[in-house]
Amino acid sequence: MIYYIVSAGIAFILSALISMKVISQKNNKNQEVLSMQTYILGTVIQLRATGKKSKVAIDKAIKRLYEIDDKMSVFKNNSDISKINKSAGIRPEKVSEDTYYVIKKAIQYAHLSQGAFEPTIRPLVKLYNFGNEGTRIPSKEEINKALKLVNYKDVIINDENKSIMLRNKDQSLDLGAIAKGYAADEVKRIFEGYGIKSAIIDLGGNIYALGKKADNTSWNIGIQNPLGSTGQYLGVLGVSNKSVVTSGNYERYFEEDGKRYHHIINPKTGYPCENGIISTTIISDYSIDGDGLTTCGYVMGLKYGFKLIENTRGVDAIFITSDRKVYVTSGIRDKFTLTNKEYLLQEYSLEEYYEKEVV
Ligand code: FAD
Ligand code: MG
Repeated sequence: MIYYIVSAGIAFILSALISMKVISQKNNKNQEVLSMQTYILGTVIQLRATGKKSKVAIDKAIKRLYEIDDKMSVFKNNSDISKINKSAGIRPEKVSEDTYYVIKKAIQYAHLSQGAFEPTIRPLVKLYNFGNEGTRIPSKEEINKALKLVNYKDVIINDENKSIMLRNKDQSLDLGAIAKGYAADEVKRIFEGYGIKSAIIDLGGNIYALGKKADNTSWNIGIQNPLGSTGQYLGVLGVSNKSVVTSGNYERYFEEDGKRYHHIINPKTGYPCENGIISTTIISDYSIDGDGLTTCGYVMGLKYGFKLIENTRGVDAIFITSDRKVYVTSGIRDKFTLTNKEYLLQEYSLEEYYEKEVV
């Protein structure tokens, strides 16, 4: 069975249409498999769990997802993030343990990527109006003004009382590139607490494959063809107990005069990232790391991003470029099968990656 990655783009359009859907089925071992689909975190949530306690596990997981949404959404007035943003340049805000943990992780990835992953990106994202109706191309002046507000080094963290402050007025945090990963890890923790041994957790393409399928084989995760329609995959990845997170330029975008403006922003230029990458997938143990690293990899590009992942222990990646080439790190080459003949699997050595720069 292939489990398709669901695009957050389509999720956005479907948001108003999706109410909670629950389906109960028996697998070929006569175990109950519960599947649930709903809309939280601004995306389509699909949970599928096997086990006697799957109903209560899914109920608890949904409750937890709402909690995380309440704490970390930039779209909710009373979230920890909105409080920090409103108090920017004024005072520190005490935040929940959850938000504190995710902000610390976000800063870690900002340091690791030297600011390619940029948790203070919100003033730029807001200019394009992603996440709301009426997306638009900002003027150069607007971009330049917003760029001055973007700097992760201005996030002041007080470890003693777990408070966060942004140094300057109008600065603004956005955990959109990492919080879904944390949420997936939390769902996994809850499922395991209820003895669930086989499940798929899909938070709008942020996937965790828990255990194995009923026939005791790995889950097959379809990797979205970034140039195809939603649900059309270009390859299959066999995994068990792994997070598989994808960032793509097709997830959330608008087009004007034939040009695509997508939601992954280059914090140096203020414009959507254009470095030849159209999708990055990270395979990791923890989804928070996968989510953080997909955005790092996407913005850093093939030359630096691929090298970063190849050199990070326990983490693997699939990078896809606009010229239809697929680059797979050494740890998962035997687990990934390219099925779309329009794409070419590139097997350069790391030394060659150092030389090659995609523009
Ligand atoms: P990723 O590729 O992982 O990250 C891209 C996102 O991160 C961008 O959308 C932007 O927000 C931010 N970003 C852009 N460039 C950078 C960069 N260089 N460094 C760091 N971050 C960057 N959407 C809604 O429309 N309505 C909602 O109510 C809503 N609520 C949400 C609540 C929460 C708690 C979260 C985490 C997200 C919410 N979203 C909402 C956002 C929505 O789900 C996004 O589409 C999603 O977060 C982006 O996920 P991704 O995996 O496609 O992107
Ligand atoms: Mg991400």
